[in-house]
Amino acid sequence: MSDWLRNILDRINSPSLDWLQVEVTTYCNAGCIYCPRTLLSDQWNSRHMPMGLFNRLIPFINNTELIYLQGWGEPLLNPRLFEMIRICKEKGKKVGFTTSGMLLTEEIASKIIDLGLDMLGISLAGTTQKTHNRIRVSADFDTIIRNLKQFSRLKEAKNSTNPSIHIAYIILRSNFHELKDIIPLANGLGADQVVASHLSLILKPDLYPEAIFFDKEHEDEYAKTLEEIKEEAIKRNIVFEYPRPFLEKDCMVCSENINHASVVNIEGQILPCVFNNPVLTNGSDLDEFISFGNLQRSNLSRVWYSKEYSRFRNIQTKKKGLVDMPLRCKKCFKRQTS
Ligand code: SF4
Repeated sequence: MSDWLRNILDRINSPSLDWLQVEVTTYCNAGCIYCPRTLLSDQWNSRHMPMGLFNRLIPFINNTELIYLQGWGEPLLNPRLFEMIRICKEKGKKVGFTTSGMLLTEEIASKIIDLGLDMLGISLAGTTQKTHNRIRVSADFDTIIRNLKQFSRLKEAKNSTNPSIHIAYIILRSNFHELKDIIPLANGLGADQVVASHLSLILKPDLYPEAIFFDKEHEDEYAKTLEEIKEEAIKRNIVFEYPRPFLEKDCMVCSENINHASVVNIEGQILPCVFNNPVLTNGSDLDEFISFGNLQRSNLSRVWYSKEYSRFRNIQTKKKGLVDMPLRCKKCFKRQTS
């Protein structure tokens, strides 16, 4: 079969994905205490995804519902972000990204709303300036809240319901006490959803005590509080998602939706999740990371249907799969708290 024909068939058979996460940058203007970018700063490679590489993806997203322009970095620092959003919207796709909220000026907010972005995530690590600013260094809580209020006012003025606002709250032992205030805060900011997640990638031993799933003594209290927050969220018509507050080592369900979603990093590597991103070690420990191919040499369809990627997806659906699972997944706290 000629390359030309194969390419056409690959476009027609592009995978049916709930979402495709695309890492548009590894630059960031914050210095969160838990982030690999902060902890691996001496080897971190900050760069933007080249437009040419991004364009190689586009013919293969026909059957993908949502394009999430996010990796280990601040998407608003990529000067081509709005062009990327426009291209995806022209293809009829839902588009979203998560930001620290620091760069959401009136002008940027206005552009985002006009482009028809569907989902805007905001990262928080507390509901007070003191807590949030200690954890998410250089991402000032008061500025973010001010920017978000302005964003809501602009949406209203433009008579737009999009983008929906999602708050991404990282749960640490030192900020758990503030999680109970997240729903009233989200309500005041016009957010539709709050997604609380664990510190799943722990790159520094001092951070282990910050993961609540190691705090067995308070397991029941965490579970009870999370349930109460969920009830409060229901009353206010806000979706609240949260992980189990304890480890289940044999769990086979990876919450990253690996059967219906995929990740492309700034270099074009096609990965099952962001935790497998080689950027985390700048290639120095590549063996431990799982990449199934690269956009620079192949395309999304060919990589998605490859023997290796199909086998990986199958393993995670089998009970006995734990034995065959790659080391990275065996050790993964994301899987163990799904
Ligand atoms: S188990 Fe962890 S490392 Fe493996 S695919 Fe899921 S999130 Fe990624």
